[in-house]
Amino acid sequence: MVMSKQIPVIEQILSANDRLAEQNRQKLDSLGVYSINIMASPGAGKTALIEQTVPRLAGKLRIAVIEGDLATSIDAERATAAGAVSVQINTGGNCHLEAQMVRDALEQLPLHDIDLLIVENVGNLVCPAGWALGTHHNVLVASVPEGDDKPYKYPATYRGVDTLVINKIDLLPYVRFNMERFRQGVAILSPGLTTFPVSCVTGEGLPAWLEWLEHTIATFRQDLSNAK
Ligand code: MG
Ligand code: ZN
Repeated sequence: MVMSKQIPVIEQILSANDRLAEQNRQKLDSLGVYSINIMASPGAGKTALIEQTVPRLAGKLRIAVIEGDLATSIDAERATAAGAVSVQINTGGNCHLEAQMVRDALEQLPLHDIDLLIVENVGNLVCPAGWALGTHHNVLVASVPEGDDKPYKYPATYRGVDTLVINKIDLLPYVRFNMERFRQGVAILSPGLTTFPVSCVTGEGLPAWLEWLEHTIATFRQDLSNAK
């Protein structure tokens, strides 16, 4: 009987976040800004991927970055140095971004002059996937040194992902990582998932990732103009 009093409270918290996420999405759609939410464990290479992506798309896409971290503005400085307009969110200990934080950050960005918004979530494989931000697409960055067991250990995150980047493939000869075992674990949770093995150090695999990003944004714009 005690439990029944607690359940509605949890539902209210979730729906408040979902409502704000929906408002974020409407704002982004109305301005024609495509957005991705990048999730990963700490050190997988989320910021490195942003650093490699932004300059390679210079002159084609105008990119803004929202960086989520517990503390510091180190990653926003890296994104700015790479050529993006960026805003740092310090969550003050919160281990994931929430829609309200993204809403506040959106107000700081010149969205009228932006084609792609990249949100880098707090490094954490547990809860970011459970919090809608209003972004269009979830990108998960896995990395070879983390080990090939991660899809098996973090099924909720691997199930909620739309696109997977496997970073640090340059380290495959040096660490224990069975690509086949990893891919089988992913396939059980997200069959047919679009996957890009890359190295942000050597640049291997990045052209396919960039091509996919450009194509996805072109399709998004086409869908928006068809809907008008
Ligand atoms: Mg980072
Ligand atoms: Zn969290």
